[in-house]
Amino acid sequence: MQLFEKLISHHEAMGLVLESTPRLPVVHTLLEDARGLAVAEDLRARFESPPFDNSAVDGYALRSCDAVAARVFRVVDEAPAGRPARKKLGEGEAIKIFTGGVIPEGADAVAMVENTSGWGEEFELKKAVLPGNNVRKGGEDVHKGEVILHADTEIGAPEIALAATQGYGELPVYRRPKIVVLSSGTELVEPGARDLSPGEIFDSNSFALLAQAFDAGADARRLYAASDNVEVLRAAIEEALSSADVVVTSGGVSVGEKDLVKGVLLSLGVEQIFWGIKLKPGKPVFFGVRENARFFGLPGNPVSAMVCFELFVRPALMRMMGRTDRHRPHIEVYFDEDVENKFGRMHAMRVRLSRTEKGWMAQSVGAQGSGLVSSLTKADALALVGPESEGVRAGDPVEAIVLREEVLF
Ligand code: AMP
Ligand code: MG
Repeated sequence: MQLFEKLISHHEAMGLVLESTPRLPVVHTLLEDARGLAVAEDLRARFESPPFDNSAVDGYALRSCDAVAARVFRVVDEAPAGRPARKKLGEGEAIKIFTGGVIPEGADAVAMVENTSGWGEEFELKKAVLPGNNVRKGGEDVHKGEVILHADTEIGAPEIALAATQGYGELPVYRRPKIVVLSSGTELVEPGARDLSPGEIFDSNSFALLAQAFDAGADARRLYAASDNVEVLRAAIEEALSSADVVVTSGGVSVGEKDLVKGVLLSLGVEQIFWGIKLKPGKPVFFGVRENARFFGLPGNPVSAMVCFELFVRPALMRMMGRTDRHRPHIEVYFDEDVENKFGRMHAMRVRLSRTEKGWMAQSVGAQGSGLVSSLTKADALALVGPESEGVRAGDPVEAIVLREEVLF
């Protein structure tokens, strides 16, 4: 039986993960694939935007100096969006115009159709129009040469819209990490495939970890559940390592004789960075590196696997993508009763949050066993209790990692 050489704190573990996980190379990615990535370099406007003066409404372009109430105008042309008028405006003339249409030469304002009567060759103006009324000026949004997206900005819908207005079909980004998720355990059966035989359970981890990986913005793929057999595991892990930036396994990474993952990894040339964290749940976590691939061996207990993904894998994925907001929100919470920690390890305790006059109050979701899958569905946050104390007293400040950010609002 192998024993953990040394358990490190979760802060130390986090530091080691980030230290050995650089950003991925810069690539140009299509706008439709850019969501959630970070801009790798400042992006500048190529031209004034909007590129021309245009109408903000449907109505008539005219000369504001003619535009007194009750005046009748002659309609000499039209300017729908995308097709500028051919005629130039003279005195008492108007050009029918639509939202986005180019303001015709000679016009300096637009009368809204609602302020006119008649929608034919002639119309009467019901209300005076002032210079510039209903005109969107060229360049009023963005000036040529201006930085429209700063390096490291996270790309969301508004950033994509802005880049598109400037004709960028692709954006320079840090490549999206490829991650392969793989379960290990002879007891595991594919959900939906068949009924369970005695001693078997359904594989939940790989599906949960896959969802977490997508949630972090990674390009995620799930392999099958490998049995606790050295050859099977070696083949699965080798396949994963050679095709991914990040490989995450669950199970088989503790100190039992069926825990084969670590031995297989070392035999495949993975360099161990750490194995064992002073954390509950999640003591046996393994982290290693082989060339450009990062390997996380997470424990098999479902809560441990998911919590450790949150704490270690998610920040690593975010960093690879150049995302500076790589941590979930950390807030200060308190308990309204004393909470023990007899584990001698940091307890990442599943809690519900509620807002009170004294701040955020945390309450345990109930039993904290690391096999209790239903407990995580009830948790808003992980409160970090210990490890240097026996626990915390009622009212003491405790750091918590918020898993459901919507509870904060
Ligand atoms: P291990 O870390 O392999 O000793 O597994 C610890 C516990 O987690 C055992 O009860 C396993 O049956 C369970 N377990 C391991 N892998 C999975 C999985 N993919 N889905 C659900 N439970 C698992
Ligand atoms: Mg196992």
